[in-house]
Amino acid sequence: MAIRVLALDLERTLISDANRADPRPGLSAFLAFCHARFERVVLFTTVEEPDARDALDRLITHNHIPAELLTPLGYVPWVGEHKDLAFVAGAAPEEVLLVDDDAGWVRPDQRDRWIAIEPWDGGADRELARVQHVLAERLEAEGRP
Ligand SMILES: [Mg+2]
Repeated sequence: MAIRVLALDLERTLISDANRADPRPGLSAFLAFCHARFERVVLFTTVEEPDARDALDRLITHNHIPAELLTPLGYVPWVGEHKDLAFVAGAAPEEVLLVDDDAGWVRPDQRDRWIAIEPWDGGADRELARVQHVLAERLEAEGRP
């Protein structure tokens, strides 16, 4: 099955945390790549949706990230011990990739859908550029519609 949806963790992956909402270096370029190459891009986070949206809104109002890169992001409602990719609506788990800094949230039988990223809490960092390269290679290998 081709990859259609990219699920992104929020805290320590895209931003520092929902309270401070510092953007990880390279976030705009990374999100532009994601929207260009995936049918859908969704947030898969432990942060409740209103707080996640508030953090994204602050990235916009502080002119860190253009609104057009943040407003199309979907949000995955979920419960449980793991970020089960079956919670992503309208796609089979085999059609989804998850970028997350924390292996503990990944379902053991879905580890092949997980792209690991180093946790970030400020400072210089090139992880998003590295992960973009990894994603491009996965799309090349597994195909897309
Ligand atoms: Mg995280």
